[in-house]
Amino acid sequence: MQIRLASTLQSDSIVDGEGIRTVIWTQGCPHNCPFCHNPSTHDFQGGFLEDIDVLKKQIDNLKGQDGITLSGGDPMVQPLECLELAKEAHKVGLNVWCYTGYLFEDVIKNKKMRALLDEVDVLVDGKFLIDQLSLDLYYKGSKNQRVIDVKKSLEEGSVYEIPKYKGTKIFKQLYKKEEGMFI
Ligand code: SF4
Repeated sequence: MQIRLASTLQSDSIVDGEGIRTVIWTQGCPHNCPFCHNPSTHDFQGGFLEDIDVLKKQIDNLKGQDGITLSGGDPMVQPLECLELAKEAHKVGLNVWCYTGYLFEDVIKNKKMRALLDEVDVLVDGKFLIDQLSLDLYYKGSKNQRVIDVKKSLEEGSVYEIPKYKGTKIFKQLYKKEEGMFI
């Protein structure tokens, strides 16, 4: 199995989810949000193909990371490929965040996307909307987007946003890997 990526794995990110993370930049996005920060990742024929087995080995060998983040592009357009990577991350003790332009409510209705969702800890959902842009949000670019606790949302049958990421940033809490960390 192969996945289309926009770049090689990027480790040590502190802006793509909680903690220190390795980002997997997938290639291909259908949403076309105006002023998207990553337009080069939209083309479904762009980027390059990589073997899932190669990426699994890279995930196995990660050091000093709290988790992986599936981003892009939209990882939900390659759900089964991303599922394999999410499973591997969990196997080696890493948590999984995923960004998507789809809404949680749409993802759960799609069989393949739902399969990936079941292997995701935190979903940041929704398109980037320029008229709701804010630089003071946690791990998202516009106010309509939600940082969702997937397990709790599935248990409760409705979206549960992680409370500490709903508001605007308190800069002294920007990064604190101490007690109170979500995962
Ligand atoms: S979903 Fe993300 S990658 Fe896709 S167009 Fe919107 S902002 Fe860009």
